[in-house]
Amino acid sequence: MEYIRASSVDEAIAAAGSGAAIVAGGTNLVPDVLFGRNAVERVVDISRLDELRFIESAGGRIRMGALATVTDLLGSDLIQREATPLHESAVEFAAPLVRNRATVAGNIMDASPAADLAPPLLAQDADVELTSAAGRRTLPLCEFFLDYRKTAVRSGELVTAISIRPLGEGGRAAYCKLQLRRAMAISVVSVAVALWMNEDTCVDAGIGLGAAAAVPYRAEAAEEALRGRVVGEAEIDAAADAARESASPIDDVRASVDYRRKMCGVLVRRMLRKAMGLPEAARA
Ligand SMILES: Cc1cc2nc3c(=O)[nH]c(=O)nc-3n(C[C@H](O)[C@H](O)[C@H](O)COP(=O)(O)OP(=O)(O)OC[C@H]3O[C@@H](n4cnc5c(N)ncnc54)[C@H](O)[C@@H]3O)c2cc1C
Repeated sequence: MEYIRASSVDEAIAAAGSGAAIVAGGTNLVPDVLFGRNAVERVVDISRLDELRFIESAGGRIRMGALATVTDLLGSDLIQREATPLHESAVEFAAPLVRNRATVAGNIMDASPAADLAPPLLAQDADVELTSAAGRRTLPLCEFFLDYRKTAVRSGELVTAISIRPLGEGGRAAYCKLQLRRAMAISVVSVAVALWMNEDTCVDAGIGLGAAAAVPYRAEAAEEALRGRVVGEAEIDAAADAARESASPIDDVRASVDYRRKMCGVLVRRMLRKAMGLPEAARA
């Protein structure tokens, strides 16, 4: 296996493409190669490209470089203030050793249905910047995940940044990861909600679900049940029902299809109530 340590984005792009795998933190790729799940001819190491490691406010959005780590998310005041679900997902993510290496781009590129950063990014309208020899294009994250562990990224493309819409003044949000133990657990289901409010009216809504289908996704019908409406009990119940109906999860050692689907509704209701400052509902 050939190993190339890229010293610039251009060099990484030149070395990427057929037979090559990019390595950032290596927390997915290295075990995959060691256990024979990924046969690569060439590894392109981008971990030293400091120009891809930033979190900034730009053009009314928050931009994260591909190499921003989960630890970087935890240490960012901007993320803590303007992207609380992403910050909370970083708190729940693995353990410090992994957080120090795991990157935002690596998390979405792995395209696991249970990728923990995906639901908060989806809820805040994330766009992915992809750079290749042909130039740069931007793809909404909701169009990025095509199928189980399959993305819309073309051969030779590098994720260079991810941007999200900040919560801003009228923003309300909540996040929850349902897991079978308190640390180092794969999500049973995870939910991120973001509401952009004008007083009591929901101007826009984002609801991201993880481990609820073959890919992380936005529960669009649930968002539609809130958008343009005064958000009260009935609207929250309608959104929760729509989220439950949108789910097409799997059975595995962690949970059954029925339990996961039910919890999509339960957790969306709970997170919307939490975001809106309502007390916990009597019914699940
Ligand atoms: C012990 C352990 C615990 C974990 N816990 C969690 C957890 O709690 N939650 C969770 O979601 N995940 C968890 N993971 C999975 C993993 O840590 C994350 O998905 C992490 O974000 C991957 O980032 P990375 O930089 O290490 O990716 P890498 O392993 O470097 O790469 C992953 C994939 O992305 C591609 N890639 C990386 N960067 C780019 C780029 N810029 N452009 C194009 N392609 C790129 C690689 O080619 C590879 O296919 C855990 C893993 C381990 C080993």
